[in-house]
Parts: sequence; structure tokens; C-alpha cells
Amino acid sequence: MKRIFGNAVVLAGEELEPTRGYVVVEDGIIAEVGEGNPGKRGYVDLKRGIICPSFTNAHTHIGDAYAKDVAAYKSISERVGKGGVKFELLKDEEKVKQGMKSALKEMLASGTLTFADFREGGARGVKLLRSVARASPVEAVVLGRPNGDSPEKLLEHCDGIGISSVADYNMEELAKLRRLANRMGKLFAVHCAEVSDDVAQVLKLNPDFVVHLTNASEASIEEVLRRRLPVVLCPRANGSFAVGLPRIREMLEGTLVALGTDNAMANSLNMLREMEFAFKLARGLSRDYGLDAREILKAATLNARKLLKLESNAIEEGNPASFVIFRNNNYIYDPVLGIVHRFEISDIKGIVKGDALLGGNGIV
Ligand SMILES: [Zn+2]
Repeated sequence: MKRIFGNAVVLAGEELEPTRGYVVVEDGIIAEVGEGNPGKRGYVDLKRGIICPSFTNAHTHIGDAYAKDVAAYKSISERVGKGGVKFELLKDEEKVKQGMKSALKEMLASGTLTFADFREGGARGVKLLRSVARASPVEAVVLGRPNGDSPEKLLEHCDGIGISSVADYNMEELAKLRRLANRMGKLFAVHCAEVSDDVAQVLKLNPDFVVHLTNASEASIEEVLRRRLPVVLCPRANGSFAVGLPRIREMLEGTLVALGTDNAMANSLNMLREMEFAFKLARGLSRDYGLDAREILKAATLNARKLLKLESNAIEEGNPASFVIFRNNNYIYDPVLGIVHRFEISDIKGIVKGDALLGGNGIV
């Protein structure tokens, strides 16, 4: 199977360099990225549409997607803390399943083809998400948490561990779990400093990445950056939970940063919205007008895959085809800025995964 997407603006390679040209997809793989016209070969005319790597949402909890904005005016601990409203909601597995299905649709419609979920409920919770995600083209990276099962059994079913908070567990148990994940070649990640600074404890576990750092002190952030520890930031969810905002620019300059949308009960799964919020927040708070939108787009696409140790979906020869095609409004001067802070779901003309065209608004 071969398809040529021509008359395109391609955000090519690891630097998302805008290039006028075409992309050839053959048997699900990018076979060629070329400049100019694809020649006499027949091609799908994208009418200067923009080809951009698909989004990877680096942090979600889609188990609570069926209860959007429940308890929105309660504190974060009352909503999603240990014993919070969320854990009551998660008991209704049928509704959880339906919510997960709708979350997968929401992600696909907004150009996300991979997500990493901190799944609650131990091995059973992991299996529930897997059973729903199997039917979707959106790929799930499932990070489970212990819930009475043996750690080996849990890790057999998931891609790694996602710890809610080091305060919820015994540190020795966590250290053991971390070593086991390492031995089994699985990820180990932790929510960190979302509400208060627990960076020192978290770093003892040497995680693959941490999520949030919203309330980390200056010294803690320095230490994270000194170690170049990869970080997932969820600025809209932090805003929704009223717990402060992360220092996006400092992180972008100092380490590998990805973006996530966090709890579906508190935030939508739309990465276009996450990018716009992150971009404007980073520029506004830092007063740095030089901050490049490309760094935000990388955080929503290529960086997230690096952090999750997945194959790159940069638009270059040999990589799997996993990209979004945006309509190119003639007045868009800079395609990267267009995607990061202007485009809506309705600007998505098509989504390509392997040999499949997965919808969008009137491509091809
Ligand atoms: Zn989370």
C-alpha cells in the first residue's frame, strides 16, 4: 500500500522544520520526504495543508472521563486525593468503561494517537483500560499502581508503574518496585510536587520521569534540572485544580519536557488547547517574547515519545507514519504558531496512522 501526500507544508524531522513538499507512506512507514512536487506520480493534493507529527498526551487518567467536572468546586484532595470523590466514581466499572471509550474518541478527534495513563485499581484496572483501548487506533501506554496484587503480576500487564504520590506508600516498598520495573524493562514514573514539595523523596527513587512540579521550590527545580530528569507538565489541570502553575519556560530550557492533560474529570483531553495554554502562560509569566512555539509543539509530540521510550514519529524516512494534516488557512504566516495557538479541531483535515486514514474534516 502506497500513498503520496503532496502540495503540503511538512514539519519535517526532529526540529519540525517547515518544508514545502510531499510525504510518501508505504506499508505504514514514511518511505520518502521530499521538497517541491512529487513529479508525475499521482498524489493526494493537500492544498498546502500542514503535515505535523501526531500528538502524544504524556499524562492522563481516563478512568474518570465519565464524570466530567464532578465536585469541581471542591479541593484537589477532596476530588482526586486518597479516598476522594474520584475513587468512589471509579467503582462503577461499566460507567468507567463508557467514559474511557468517549475519551479515546476525544483524543482521536483532536489528533492524539498515543497517550500515557496513570491507571488506578492495580492489575484489574490496567486490564480494564487495555480491553477498551484495544478497539481504538489510539495507542495506550498504561502505567499501573499497586493495589494489593503482587508487583510482578501488575507489571506483567502494564508498561510500567505510575505512582500517585510517594506519601501514599512505604518508601522501601517503592524502592523495591522501582528496582523490579528496571529489571523488567518497564517505566517508573511519579506524580511529584503537585501540591507540596516532595522532590527530595521522589528523586531517591530515580524515576524515569516525574509529573507536575507545580509546587517545587527553587532548589528542588535546580536539582531536577541538574539531573536532566524528564518532566511532564499539566498546566491546564493544575489551573483547574487551583494548585498553582508550573514554571514552563525554565523546564523547557533545562530538560526534556512533555505535556499532559491529567484527570479527564478536571480537564479536556485536547492537546491543541493544552499547547495554547502552555505557550501563552510561558510567555506571559516569563515576559520572554523570544520563547519559540516550536518548543511547545515538540513537548506535545516528539518529546513525549522520547520520555515514554517509544519510537519517534518525526516526519522522516523510516519512521512509522503517525501524523495529523491541518488545513492551511492562507493567512497563517507561521505553520508552527498556527498549530500551537490558533487551530481548532475543525482545522484537522485528516489523521494518518500507518496505512489508515482516520478521519478529520474533509481531507481526501
Ligand atoms: Zn495525574
